[in-house]
Amino acid sequence: MNICFVATECEPLVKVGGLGDVVQSLAKELVNLGHQVSVILPFYKSIKAKNVQFITQHTLNLGGVYYDFHIYKTHLDNIDIFLIDQKTFFGREYVYGTPKGPYEDNYLRFAFFSLASLETLSHICHTPDVIHIHDWHTALVAVYKDLYFKHLEETATVLTIHNIAFQGIFPSYILPQIGIPWELFNPEDLEFYNQVNFLKGGIVHSDVITTVSKTHAKEIQTNMGFGLEGVLREKRYVFGILNGIDTESWNPATDKSLYQNYDINTFKAGKEKNKIYVKELFGLETPHTRPLAAFIARLAKQKGLDLIEKAIDDAVKIGYDFIFLGSGDYYYQGKVLDMVKRNMGYVAARIEYNDILSRKLYAGADMFLMPSEYEPCGIGQMIAMRYGAIPIVHKTGGLADTVVDYHEDNEHGTGFSFEDYTYKDFLYTMARAMIVYQKKYIPEDNEWYNIVSNAMSQDFSWRRSVQEYIKIYKTAKLIKMH
Ligand code: ADP
Repeated sequence: MNICFVATECEPLVKVGGLGDVVQSLAKELVNLGHQVSVILPFYKSIKAKNVQFITQHTLNLGGVYYDFHIYKTHLDNIDIFLIDQKTFFGREYVYGTPKGPYEDNYLRFAFFSLASLETLSHICHTPDVIHIHDWHTALVAVYKDLYFKHLEETATVLTIHNIAFQGIFPSYILPQIGIPWELFNPEDLEFYNQVNFLKGGIVHSDVITTVSKTHAKEIQTNMGFGLEGVLREKRYVFGILNGIDTESWNPATDKSLYQNYDINTFKAGKEKNKIYVKELFGLETPHTRPLAAFIARLAKQKGLDLIEKAIDDAVKIGYDFIFLGSGDYYYQGKVLDMVKRNMGYVAARIEYNDILSRKLYAGADMFLMPSEYEPCGIGQMIAMRYGAIPIVHKTGGLADTVVDYHEDNEHGTGFSFEDYTYKDFLYTMARAMIVYQKKYIPEDNEWYNIVSNAMSQDFSWRRSVQEYIKIYKTAKLIKMH
């Protein structure tokens, strides 16, 4: 099949969170199976691609204003990457916004990008079988396609919702600026409580909707759709497909960033060495018998930092050390730095986005904290398991689908999870994990090592999920034909 992704992130060119991992690794897996894949991305200032080739320049009329842009092309693992270069919109330091908040003209930036992507397809005479769009930023592709690109009538649209909490909701007066007629401003379409909702438009106009885990597919239609439950229930085709990870890139046996490589047979010594190394890097001088819990994520409310903040002083008292690696909201940066200050010597942090450091930390950590308030899928916990860092998670969305609680299933347990989103439940779960961890130091007791071994032997590759996506692309195409 011929599939075109329109997305706002793609590793290693640009990544803010899991979306960047998914776009790159799913595209790569599809190419490996013989499909033709292209990805259209904004040409952000931060993109440092090699061998970029100028294709053409074009002018686009968006709501009566003319915007010039250039189209460039590059390659990544046999994937054609088209880059849309428009300096006013994308020649900025950040992708979505500064740590103070989103850019105010995001509605215009991403409406422009959505329309320019379709123009790009027309310009290069590319008629894919499926256009796969991701989240609210590219949701308008489905709307513009129905409105203005009749020659793409046979091309199906698949929308994947990676994070339904972000919907792109703006005041109604922006409609003329983004070239969408007022007829579409009704409850059956883009209107949402008297405002314009990009994601809702994408849902209504796409042929198939997917989200990134089976549990989350149910959640968004019942109690966690952030107001879109009803619209989603009315859609006939809503599926949950678990994300995978690129198991070639995320492999502790070959990862060049690690102090010492290891695999499922050598993790006992390997992880210990990485732990000593990473603790030194972060200036923690505590005994190495204390478990090291890592947190690697965007610093945002969703990631459960409020629970961690309330539990951390007690967790340090019961024997935990912590390392935080994250960037994001100023508010949560402050919280993290405050936790460090309150627990000097036991808690360390770096406020930055750093892929290599994250790898060292996944390898050195005994546990990985992901007590997210909600988590559509989550990539962090999968990487952590692959690197033998045992996840402690809130049982929600993709975390519920990927982590088997050890006390619920002794034989197959891969981590520890809790149901009620309260710091008490979280702390209690950390205490449960601590009891098992301490058995590491009892001769002949393999309980902890069995969990590590279970976690490391999970298959989180795209192999299974990619087949499900192919089925969905075929379904979408069939719907389009009939
Ligand atoms: P989300 O998409 O909500 O941000 P995911 O768990 O799905 O969360 O994906 C997060 C991805 O971003 C993981 O690959 C994680 O390792 C990476 N990541 C998050 N914060 C950082 C950071 N500060 N430095 C390096 N990698 C990070």
